Amino acid sequence: SGEKGTRRLTILGSTGSIGTNTLDVVERLGGRDRFQIAALTGNGNIPLLAEQARRVGAELAVTADEHRYGELKDALAGSGIEVAAGRSGLTEAAERDAGWLMAAIVGNAGLAPTLAAARRGADIALANKECLVSAGSLFIEAVSKGGGRLLPVDSEHNAIFQVLENDQRHAVERVVLTASGGPFRTKTLDEMRHVTADIARAHPNWSMGLKISIDSASMFNKALEMIEARHLFRLRPDQIEVIVHPQSVVHSMVGYSDGSVLAQLGCPDMRTAIGYALSYPKRCELPIERLDFAKLARLDFEAPDETRFPALRLARRAMEAGGIQGAVLNGAKETALEAFIKGRIGFLAMAEIVEKVMDLLSDLPAAVTMDDVFAADKKARQTAAGLI
Ligand code: NAD
Ligand code: MG
Repeated sequence: SGEKGTRRLTILGSTGSIGTNTLDVVERLGGRDRFQIAALTGNGNIPLLAEQARRVGAELAVTADEHRYGELKDALAGSGIEVAAGRSGLTEAAERDAGWLMAAIVGNAGLAPTLAAARRGADIALANKECLVSAGSLFIEAVSKGGGRLLPVDSEHNAIFQVLENDQRHAVERVVLTASGGPFRTKTLDEMRHVTADIARAHPNWSMGLKISIDSASMFNKALEMIEARHLFRLRPDQIEVIVHPQSVVHSMVGYSDGSVLAQLGCPDMRTAIGYALSYPKRCELPIERLDFAKLARLDFEAPDETRFPALRLARRAMEAGGIQGAVLNGAKETALEAFIKGRIGFLAMAEIVEKVMDLLSDLPAAVTMDDVFAADKKARQTAAGLI
């Protein structure tokens, strides 16, 4: 920690949806009086990154895009804030001494820097689920060797984390991940076939980044979250259930061996999970909209449809195969998602491509080192690109 009473924080992906919410929480919980921001990172939105860095008095600002270094340098001229860019810049941000780090880069691009922070023993507030989907137990191992805490920020996993007592872990029978069902919950396969990225990105309950919003529509987001839950809470695949809950009020549940089910509820606002990860093991005060149960009147639940949303089936397949299939699923999914966003493939083709890549790469050996994870990710991307 820095000066008396201040905590040093870093936010990877500060310009995104989770990143801006994290800065909002930091400012509401005392801002510069309580926190020193060691580093902020972004990618293409240089004006926002520079504005954030000046506002919070960050020591270091990093753009992941090395071609934007000069632009960021100019935007921060005279501020005394250090500037870096590219992959080495991201590593520099992650390695800079800060006891707590928000991992909120989107996609597998977040793995290397988050790993660097885990290895030096920072507490990792993990929004970037791809770290666990791709690297699984190797990532968990790196955190535990480093000696920091892993604090789940994904709302479902944060909910489970909130209701899971350490000395009751032996009695956990199952976790139930809730899914809103996304914008296509009631659509037929034929209706989904022709949707565009603009239609797919409109999430009914949560306001999120573009990619995770589309992943919610295809339920690939829930697929990633199943694999994430497996590693975070050390579960067998058959202990992970998904239930569609259109109101997104119950954020997830834990079922115990005595038949009890514990749930965490709240209005859909990521600042609850972020604030919990920042204040843990205490709780903070946040101006989140409070639940009004009378107004809510009812909570609905329905079984997910794996025919219309094959991503869920693919997640089970990846978990059962074990080894490196999480990295294969995610690498193929990210490539297919980018192609969908660019209008090169249809909405349903995303799952078809992921399944074909998993078929083609089913023999890849299990990862022994992180390099194996990066190699599998690359192979999955190349194979998916070949199919597109
Ligand atoms: P976003 O697209 O809004 O923001 C992504 C951030 O990553 C931005 O700061 C961007 O500049 C940066 N970035 C993008 N590409 C990069 C690259 N190649 N290298 C380095 N940085 C890059 O995304 P988001 O919605 O904030 O999601 C961030 C992560 O949190 C994702 O892994 C997502 O699955 C997870 N998550 C998000 C939410 C949510 O409510 N938004 C909820 C749960 C989990
Ligand atoms: Mg989630």
